[in-house]
Amino acid sequence: MSKIEGGCACGAVRYEITAPLVAVGVCHCRQCQYGTGGGPNYVALTPKAGLVFTKGEPKRYTSPGGSGQDLDRIFCADCGTPLISDPAGPLYPVKLGSMDDPSALSPNIHIWTSEAQPWHRIDPGLPAFPQNPPQPPPS
Ligand SMILES: [Zn+2]
Repeated sequence: MSKIEGGCACGAVRYEITAPLVAVGVCHCRQCQYGTGGGPNYVALTPKAGLVFTKGEPKRYTSPGGSGQDLDRIFCADCGTPLISDPAGPLYPVKLGSMDDPSALSPNIHIWTSEAQPWHRIDPGLPAFPQNPPQPPPS
């Protein structure tokens, strides 16, 4: 696949992804709802080694994720756009809304549906898990 570029609303932070995406998913956990402003979190799982920041210095906020383990939420300090989460492990969940063109990246899994709001839409045609999936998401 070709390179994916993205960044924040004001343009202060830019990144590039050169590795193939591992999965595209939707996280409904309560902490992600804070990160998005209420909706679920639409993300592409990206190998950390395949993402570089090409402009700016994003800020980090550390808090417990849905699993209880700390993760960093990476965002633009100027405009507040949520960009990337940084959990333990080899993958970054990169927020689809921060990509220049996320139109072709359709989610293939829903997770943490136990914390979804009653009005979140969960695609009945996709695998859904009340918490993290029992195995790594399919590639
Ligand atoms: Zn910004």
